[in-house]
Amino acid sequence: MSSQQDMGLPAARENAVITGAASGIGAAVARRLLDRGANVFLIDRDIDRLRSVFANVDAPGETVKLFQADVTDNAKLKALFAEVDAHGGVDNVVHCAGVARLGTVIEIDEASFDFVLDVNLKGTFLLAKNAMPSLMKRRGCFTAIASDAGTQGASGYAAYCASKHGVVGLIKSMALDHGPQGVRCNAICPGFVETPMLDQLFADNPSDRGFYEKTVPLGRFARPNDVAELAAFISSPAGSYLNGAIIALDGGSTAGYFSSASAAD
Ligand code: NAD
Repeated sequence: MSSQQDMGLPAARENAVITGAASGIGAAVARRLLDRGANVFLIDRDIDRLRSVFANVDAPGETVKLFQADVTDNAKLKALFAEVDAHGGVDNVVHCAGVARLGTVIEIDEASFDFVLDVNLKGTFLLAKNAMPSLMKRRGCFTAIASDAGTQGASGYAAYCASKHGVVGLIKSMALDHGPQGVRCNAICPGFVETPMLDQLFADNPSDRGFYEKTVPLGRFARPNDVAELAAFISSPAGSYLNGAIIALDGGSTAGYFSSASAAD
């Protein structure tokens, strides 16, 4: 076994699977991993958008494969990983596909609750289930983009918060189950990130944007690239001892009580 394999790192060119790659965080992660020379297998339910985002990608020598798949579709995921296996298997899964619906338990209806839980939580389970045999062979890693709403409550986000808490629990269990098999499992918990999802959430109440921005000690929301850099680090040699880590990436928002009025200039 090479020393690279000893460290749980791929011996050959990295094969990375990224979900939700047509937009926001997923697109940024895909670009970041392409930049470091990975072959990327990009998944989104919106194939037209995925094609338009990656139509003119300049990646000499690298494989860029685009797949239309819903992460709640077990059969599709199975077929997809069979194809990735035909390319030697997967070293790095970064799971970014996700949805948000606003509402308290009174406001949100049962269908919307089921939809959010299905995509965010069951989708993570199905992706991990299909990826794990291949990850075990390549001693790879699985990173889920959870949320700050996976470690604490968020008013008006009952279903989303429940789903992301589920993702955090699932990742911790996966780290314990599969760490001994050489697969590292971690979650990134961003605060607000400037993506189309955020625009959609603030569409009805644009003034919320300024309000919430003031709650971030660093004074700004994250950019998709901030998340992509952390995902790249976790799956790099420098991150090879990270397993079961639930990492806040929120400019300090969950560090404790914060008053923007008392913030130093
Ligand atoms: P986005 O809406 O910009 O992108 C999400 C992508 O996932 C879209 O391309 C969409 O088509 C795809 N997708 C949605 N459901 C899918 C499904 N069932 N199967 C396959 N693809 C699907 O959102 P984003 O802001 O980039 O969010 C990425 C992840 O980060 C999500 O899990 C989200 O919950 C999480 N997150 C976002 C924020 C934020 O403020 N934007 C904060 C914390 C966590």
